[in-house]
Amino acid sequence: MENCLFCKIVNKEIPTSFVAENGELVAFDDIRPKAPAHVLILPKAHVLSVKEADEKLSGKLITLAKKIAEEKGLEGYKLIFNVGPKGGQVVEHLHLHLVGGWNEAPKKVEI
Ligand code: 5GP
Ligand code: ZN
Repeated sequence: MENCLFCKIVNKEIPTSFVAENGELVAFDDIRPKAPAHVLILPKAHVLSVKEADEKLSGKLITLAKKIAEEKGLEGYKLIFNVGPKGGQVVEHLHLHLVGGWNEAPKKVEI
């Protein structure tokens, strides 16, 4: 969809650090990470929010999020859908936030 930031990312019009891609979905690092790991998982097709997504698509997004979390070795994480402007959704192209990475061992300071 024209003038949609995430459609532009899907179409590779904006340089982005992609984490995963298949025929239907993409995942990329959030530009302003709120946690050590912060990945956005979304359909390539322009769907407004999870309200407009059917069970199959919602399931695929969650399945890919779990796979990425496992590959990144995240023991604990949060999966978040912001729904609509009043739900904190800024970009109106359905996306699932995967946030985590707090469980990593603290780095030792070399002295
Ligand atoms: P929302 O608030 O809509 O659920 O989340 C949108 C997310 O998109 C935010 O966490 C924000 O940091 C991220 N974001 C906004 N613009 C860009 C961008 O150009 N590239 C990437 N990778 N992430 C973006
Ligand atoms: Zn879009």
